[in-house]
Amino acid sequence: MDLRALTGDEKEVFLKLQKEGPLTKKALLERFGYKPSTLNRILASLAGRGAIAATGQEESSGGRKPYLFDIKPHEKYVIGIDISRTYIYAAVCDLKMNVRASKMIYGLPLTGYTPQNAVNSVSEAIAGLLDSFSISAADILGAGVGMVGPVDRQTGTTGEVESFRYNNWSRVPLRDMLEKALGCTVYVDNGSCAAVLAEYLYGSGKSCKSISYFNCEVGIRSASVSSGVLIRGAKDVEDAFSHTTINSEGELCYCGRRGCVRCYASTPAISENVRRRISAGEASIISAPPEAINYRHILAAAGKGDAVASEELRRAGVLFGVGLANYVTLLDPEYVIIDGPLVLESGIFFDSAVRSAKENAYASSRVVFKKGGSFGYETIAVGAAAMYFEWYMGSPIVK
Ligand SMILES: [Zn+2]
Repeated sequence: MDLRALTGDEKEVFLKLQKEGPLTKKALLERFGYKPSTLNRILASLAGRGAIAATGQEESSGGRKPYLFDIKPHEKYVIGIDISRTYIYAAVCDLKMNVRASKMIYGLPLTGYTPQNAVNSVSEAIAGLLDSFSISAADILGAGVGMVGPVDRQTGTTGEVESFRYNNWSRVPLRDMLEKALGCTVYVDNGSCAAVLAEYLYGSGKSCKSISYFNCEVGIRSASVSSGVLIRGAKDVEDAFSHTTINSEGELCYCGRRGCVRCYASTPAISENVRRRISAGEASIISAPPEAINYRHILAAAGKGDAVASEELRRAGVLFGVGLANYVTLLDPEYVIIDGPLVLESGIFFDSAVRSAKENAYASSRVVFKKGGSFGYETIAVGAAAMYFEWYMGSPIVK
C-alpha cells in the first residue's frame, strides 16, 4: 500500500476515514459533495489499493443496513518520539494514531545524554517495542520527533535552546542521525506544535476551530491552531510565551530582560523559591538538602499538604495565569490545554492558573481550560507521530 500514490480525491477520502471512520457512503457524500458514481469509483480504487475496507453495517431501524467504510489501521505504523529536557518518550502508533506500544526512556538528556546516546537509546527502545509486538520494520511509515524547540524543520537540526546546550545538543543534525539509526524517514518539529496537532486532529480539541496548548516544566512551551492553521512565529520558537513580560521591574531572566513568565512559573523558578524558604528556616516535610530540591520533591510534598510547597505552586500558577490571560485575550482560543509534569502531578498549579487567567483576561469567558493532554504522558509522542503522518501525506497543516 503506497499512500503517497493516492490521487487528490482518494487522499481526501482516505484522510477523512482515517480520522473519523468508520463512515457510510451517505456521510462521505454529505461531507464532500461528490456524485455517488464518483464516490463509488474512489472507494473502489482505495479498496483495490488495499487502503480501505468495508468494516460492517450501520445499525438501522428498517430497510437495508448501509455499509461502513474505514481505513485498515494496522497496515502501517508510525513512530512518535518526544525529546524533552528531562526525558525521552517513544511510541509506536497505528494509522489512527492509537498507541500500540510505548516506552518512557528516563534518560535525563539535560545532564547525562549526548545526542548520540539519545539516538542509540531511542533506536534500541523502538527495536524492542517492534519486536515485542511483532511489527515488521517494513510496516513502519516513518518517525516524527517532537523536540524542545527551536528546530530547523527543513534540515531536522536542533537550535540553540536554553539549558539544552549541555552535552553538545545545539546544532545537532538529529533527523539525519535518527534516519541512519532507525532506517526510516524522520521529520523533526517542535514538541508543542506536535502536541497541539494531536489535540486538534485526534484529541479533546477535535471539535474546536482554535485551540492552544501549553506544556509546563523546565521551560514553558506553547503552540496554537487557529481555524485549521498551525500558528508558527517567524523564528519558529516554542518558548516565546515564557519570555513575555508580566512584571517589567521583576526578576532578571536569563534572556537579559526582567519579569518573564518563566521567572515565576517554570520548575527551576518554583524550586529556587522553595529552596530559599527552607534555607531560611521555614518548616517543610521536604527532607532533601536545599540544593538538591527539585520540582518532584515539591509536587510530592504539596500532595501531602506541605504549606511551603503548596504556596509556591499556587503563586507560580497565579503568575502563569496572568501571562495566560494576556495570551487568551489576544488569540481568543476556544479551548486551552495546560499540560506537562507540573500540571499532571498536582492540581494546585492548574487550579490557581485557571482562576487567575479568568480573573485577568479581557472578555474571554468562553475559553474552556483543560488539565492535561488527551494522551497523558504520551501527548507529544502521539503528536510527533501525527505530525509525521500529515507531513508524509502532504497535508497543508504541516508546511
Ligand atoms: Zn526571558
